[in-house]
Amino acid sequence: MKKTDHESKTNRNPLIIPIFIMNSGCPHRCIFCNQKITAGNFPPKITKEFFESEVKSYLAWNKDKSRKVEIAFYGGSFTGVDPVYQEELLSWTYFFIQKGLVNSIRISTRPDYISADKLPLLKKYNVTTIEIGAQSFVDEVLQFAQRGHSADSIVKAVTILKHNGFRTGLHLMAGLPKDTKEGFIYSLNKTIELKPDTVRIHPVIVFSGTVLAEEFLKGKYKSLKLSDAVELCRLAWEKLSAADIRIIRMGLHLTNEMGENGTVLAGPIHPALGSLVLSSIFYDHTINLLENIFQDNKELRFGLAERDLSNFRGLNNMNLSAIKKLYPCTNLIVESNINQKRGVISVATDSGKSFTLTIPGII
Ligand code: SF4
Repeated sequence: MKKTDHESKTNRNPLIIPIFIMNSGCPHRCIFCNQKITAGNFPPKITKEFFESEVKSYLAWNKDKSRKVEIAFYGGSFTGVDPVYQEELLSWTYFFIQKGLVNSIRISTRPDYISADKLPLLKKYNVTTIEIGAQSFVDEVLQFAQRGHSADSIVKAVTILKHNGFRTGLHLMAGLPKDTKEGFIYSLNKTIELKPDTVRIHPVIVFSGTVLAEEFLKGKYKSLKLSDAVELCRLAWEKLSAADIRIIRMGLHLTNEMGENGTVLAGPIHPALGSLVLSSIFYDHTINLLENIFQDNKELRFGLAERDLSNFRGLNNMNLSAIKKLYPCTNLIVESNINQKRGVISVATDSGKSFTLTIPGII
């Protein structure tokens, strides 16, 4: 069936224009945070000229206006920023909204910097989504990370934001000092209770110039292995998807700075951590689907949505090679099907049987 313009606009992920405010508004530095490495090449203070050229360069990719566009202020505590600077940033954004070139604004901030008096300014400029750096719901973990707030602040922040009609996002970290798998599960359960619209999961990376780097060099902190990070992210995916909460990112976006010598000391850094997690989910579901299919088929024809193909195949066709080992005499064909919904795996045998399975949470 042909999609209408409206449907195709709303079904695609928005084009997000990230503007990093480089620790502006932060009362101190959390032990893992080094924005100079994680944000990339942003100036310490955003000027109007810098802002406009950044936004225009992104908008050039969206000339046909086929995607919704959102400007996102990341990398600091937006609601802790001097209100005059906050209003400047928001008004520059609003200019693009009024011209019909940008649809919405999102900001990220600390949970203890959300209070009813900070919201009217955000409302005035049509901020729709507020992402909260929660990181963990375990107070001991928050304290050791020198976050300067408790789990209770996260609950209060999300409650106020929801009550005032904002879309909410939570950031969680896996592998913080003093955290455990049980602690991470506890944080996921608390997240489910709060039911934010979205979640990002960032396994901890040890960056130079941080307190965590000192702890690591003294041998007091041991980072997660990549396989541990995939396991924890997968756990998060399964729990949160079942609760209808969307994970919009697993793993940090890699910057050029992270490729420089000595900037990353340890941690499960990977250019496509999210794909590793999703392909392991696709693999296990495919094996479940194949449980009732005998190995003597001459051919198995898999059908997937175009955007699921790479996760189905796995990194370097890893999943497909593993399936081939289970069905050594069978010709495996993988096709994209234009009508297939994301998360649906179908398989047809040469004897005319077909089976389908849906993975929840893939959208
Ligand atoms: S509040 Fe966020 S941006 Fe600020 S220092 Fe902590 S982690 Fe970094």
